[in-house]
Amino acid sequence: MESTKLKRPKHKGSPKLFENPMLEKLTHTHISVPLIIFFVTSVALIYYGIFEKGFRTPEILAWFAGGLLFFTLIEYLAHRYLYHIPATTPRRQKISYTMHGVHHDYPKDKSRLAMPPVLSLIVASVLFIIYRAILGDYVFGFLAGFLVGYAGYLAVHYSVHAFKVPNNFLKILWHHHSIHHYREPDRAFGVSSPFWDHIFRTMPRQTPASDRTAVGKSIDDENMGKAHAH
Ligand SMILES: [Zn+2]
Ligand SMILES: [Zn+2]
Ligand SMILES: [Zn+2]
Repeated sequence: MESTKLKRPKHKGSPKLFENPMLEKLTHTHISVPLIIFFVTSVALIYYGIFEKGFRTPEILAWFAGGLLFFTLIEYLAHRYLYHIPATTPRRQKISYTMHGVHHDYPKDKSRLAMPPVLSLIVASVLFIIYRAILGDYVFGFLAGFLVGYAGYLAVHYSVHAFKVPNNFLKILWHHHSIHHYREPDRAFGVSSPFWDHIFRTMPRQTPASDRTAVGKSIDDENMGKAHAH
């Protein structure tokens, strides 16, 4: 896979993406909006599955877990192959910049850490139709898990960019994503976990232990927030 050119990201500002003011406004999303929408939708789907479709709780939870795991795979594949699509034509270049390149240029722009809810709601509706055609009524558990996975991914991604590195096991998520942003944009595509990077062999390249402190210093300390021990 082509390595994305690593430019120095800007830590202030929010560039204009569209001339049309309506479209431009849509590119700014407060993170709480999709989090609430998809959490409430998931609760409604589970409620409907149990009380209207008569599923037993363990059954719906199993499908929920399946949907959640499936989301993490889609998260990985979309980030690797769709967001980082090689910019072979000016049109592709524009689409990929609008979807994701802008986030690499302005990683601290908190208004651009989620897709516009209008768009994600359309995607969710299409997924409902597709999953229902394949899974029948199991869609209620499966899609609920999938959407909770999406909300979780958004929450992790937002936290990694907005908050300083926590001093516990969660710091691995900060570190993994900061490597993707600041050193190896062609690696470390998993945001909610490094699981699929292990499976598909896109974990960060091994660095000698002696260099690792320096890496941690330049990646995490300067760019992602406060110092943390490795
Ligand atoms: Zn990326
Ligand atoms: Zn990011
Ligand atoms: Zn780190």
